[in-house]
Amino acid sequence: MTVYQPPGQPGSIVTYRPRYEHWIGGEWRPPVRGQYFQNPTPVTGEIFCEVARGTAEDVEAALDAAHAAAPAWGRTSPADRAQVLLRIADRMAGHLEELAVAESWENGKPVRETLAADLPLAVDHLRYFAGALRAQEGGLSQIDDDTVAYHFHEPLGVVGQIIPWNFPLLMAVWKLAPALAAGNAVVLKPAEQTPASILLLVDLISDLLPPGVLNVVSGFGVEAGKPLASSSRVRKIAFTGETTTGRLILQYASSNLIPVSLELGGKSPNLFFADVAAEQDAFYDKALEGFAMFALNQGEVCTCPSRALIQSSIYDRFLGDGLERVRAMRQGNPLDTDTQVGAQASNDQLEKILAYIEIGQAEGAKVLAGGERVDLGGALSGGYYVAPTVFEGDNSMRIFQEEIFGPVVAVTRFDDFADGIEIANDTLYGLGAGVWSRDGSVAYRAGRAIQAGRVWTNCYHAYPAHAAFGGYKNSGIGRETHRVALEHYQQTKNLLVSYSPQAL
Ligand code: NAD
Repeated sequence: MTVYQPPGQPGSIVTYRPRYEHWIGGEWRPPVRGQYFQNPTPVTGEIFCEVARGTAEDVEAALDAAHAAAPAWGRTSPADRAQVLLRIADRMAGHLEELAVAESWENGKPVRETLAADLPLAVDHLRYFAGALRAQEGGLSQIDDDTVAYHFHEPLGVVGQIIPWNFPLLMAVWKLAPALAAGNAVVLKPAEQTPASILLLVDLISDLLPPGVLNVVSGFGVEAGKPLASSSRVRKIAFTGETTTGRLILQYASSNLIPVSLELGGKSPNLFFADVAAEQDAFYDKALEGFAMFALNQGEVCTCPSRALIQSSIYDRFLGDGLERVRAMRQGNPLDTDTQVGAQASNDQLEKILAYIEIGQAEGAKVLAGGERVDLGGALSGGYYVAPTVFEGDNSMRIFQEEIFGPVVAVTRFDDFADGIEIANDTLYGLGAGVWSRDGSVAYRAGRAIQAGRVWTNCYHAYPAHAAFGGYKNSGIGRETHRVALEHYQQTKNLLVSYSPQAL
């Protein structure tokens, strides 16, 4: 067991600047209007740094820098750009522990997760896109004996990226890696709840990219995000966040007719078919672990398996064993490597979750575990902790239909295959899903029938760089991760060439 010291305390491996400005054109630049906002840690509630509060003027300055840098960056060879991505990956890997602790301090997530998942995934993502770029080839179509169509990939130019607070570094890298690999210059806006770990990363890699290729403007959604998403000077906007905000982003971008990729909310079903409980073996154990994954990252995951659908014949037994797992979860200081469940990312999020717990009870759902705020005592008393919560109810309830984004699972039963699929698809969302069965045919058919971009089969919450990720229905447009993401940041240039000496 290791307990990391909070930043600012003796022995801490993380040092933040007390104040962060915008990162524009390869230097720190104060906000044009001179305003800053305070950044608290959800671990204790204390303020640990202040951050520039960006406005349209700062976005314009960042776009100036990006436009100045984009042409030269876009002309670098794929091999050179891949090298830069690999150097960023190596630098992050060399500072992995420091970045993991910073991410936990700023977001409240357990350091065992940031050490084992968030940071290694981010590093691998950069390496994957360095490789994907090198392996990418154009195309050639033979139109007739004398005519050929060549297809080239070209960068879009300057792109805007807006990210949420639940995986600050990973979400930043998910977007930056394909955009930079494809040869674009970027203006990135972090979430106002979690700008600091990204700015810490910028400090670490500041010598690795030409000035202006990566620009970070921090600030709030309407003040800094809207001018970026509405700008006629970006050739694409990529957004991750709430579905309601995603709709606004589409509207902003529509007048400029630019491509938009949206990674939005979810209400993912996790289906446990009866044969899961045929034996009390390692597979059964794995399925129970899959049930308990609703609390991973305190439920602040767009693919949180927030609806558990259990086949009626095993319902009581499976749920009983699942509840034991939930009650055994270790909630505590996010900087302690033994902690499994940490703090919610912000006070607003804490209040939203508690409000949903009340809504669930008011609409007749039964609380089987948790259902309250947790006071961990001492310095952690000011932190934003919610007990992992299990509700029992039916799929028409709001807690089954609306994204809570907390450690809350709503459980119900289904009778047969058709019933299970119907309940699974009875939501506006379609991001993730889980299917658990020992029968390959059942698992395959369920995976194909569920309307979601990612269906985990006999596993959950794995995010490899080379598997495509994205939403159906109200969960989004486009894909991230996997080499298809590279194409979201490229134009296709077609040269249609006639080699015929004949007159037309
Ligand atoms: P949010 O939509 O409130 O904010 C996301 C980002 O958008 C922030 O940077 C915010 O400042 C900015 N923003 C807000 N209003 C804006 C506006 N009018 N114009 C431009 N920018 C604006 O979402 P959140 O609460 O930060 O994040 C949680 C949401 O993100 C959840 O719904 C979750 O499901 C979703 N999410 C989805 C994925 C995915 O890949 N599908 C991944 C992580 C999170």
